[in-house]
Amino acid sequence: MAVINFGSINIDHVYQVEHFVQPGETIASSHYQCLLGGKGANQSIALARAGSQVRHVGKINEADVAFKQTMIRDGIDCKYVTCSETASGHAIIQVTPSAENAIVLFGGANHEMTSKDIMHALDNAKSSDWVLTQNETSSIDQVLIQAKEKGLRVAFNPAPMTESVKHLPHDCIDLLIVNEVEAQEISGRHDLDEIEDYFRQDWPHAEILITLGKVGVRMLKKDKTINLPAFEVDAVDTTAAGDTFIGYFLSAYSNHTDSTTALKRACAASALAVMQVGAAQSIPTEEDVNRFLAKQ
Ligand code: ADP
Repeated sequence: MAVINFGSINIDHVYQVEHFVQPGETIASSHYQCLLGGKGANQSIALARAGSQVRHVGKINEADVAFKQTMIRDGIDCKYVTCSETASGHAIIQVTPSAENAIVLFGGANHEMTSKDIMHALDNAKSSDWVLTQNETSSIDQVLIQAKEKGLRVAFNPAPMTESVKHLPHDCIDLLIVNEVEAQEISGRHDLDEIEDYFRQDWPHAEILITLGKVGVRMLKKDKTINLPAFEVDAVDTTAAGDTFIGYFLSAYSNHTDSTTALKRACAASALAVMQVGAAQSIPTEEDVNRFLAKQ
């Protein structure tokens, strides 16, 4: 059983600056880091660290194959990460001393995923495999349709949220994972109970998982609603909290762990992630999560 993740691979260029650059201004950066990022890659890393077999499907520029090697070292099968002549997806991130950020994002090679690439990557999929995707690559409708045609189970995280998400074939989705803002945008409702009513009426075929930041999570299953609180921790950086949650939840759930146990593991993993600075580097290992849960 594997999770096949059709996801973005971004290169994050992070510049420490005194203030955000103003129109016409040139400023020096005091510190620079170049890191693997993108919701797709982060979720694959979380799945792999949670102990799942994960196959990433994506595109990257030839000059950046070192980032593919980083993913392979983390235990991700990258056979279907192919090279493109287009620049890799990347983000130019300015970070100020008060930890505010300003970001320019270029989708690049992430937007070159075609229907044919998807067909090829699904060729050898087993009926027990899950497919996962987010909203940072092209041809998402094709991922959903082709995965469903093959009888695979489909998880979708519509982040970053755009208007186009509302037009995707949502009857192909078995598990929708959203944060509160995404849930509000899809449903057009504000209150959590009203959001639940909307999904129960308009998405009866799918299970819905709504993450609620430090409040915790609500999962809508066919026959019940599960609410679970987040762990109380000292959060220093919530980057990749959602990606960690998704990877850890799907890893457990796809291996037939019951929903409440899978949610608890995901809450523990993401609580550990928010206690660390950074994105991929803040995603904990399975051992870290076991140790944390044993202490509760
Ligand atoms: P996203 O990062 O996609 O916006 P959320 O902010 O909802 O997602 O966070 C995902 C999960 O991470 C939450 O359901 C919760 O379990 C955990 N989490 C987020 N923020 C905190 C926090 N401050 N303390 C503890 N856990 C947190």
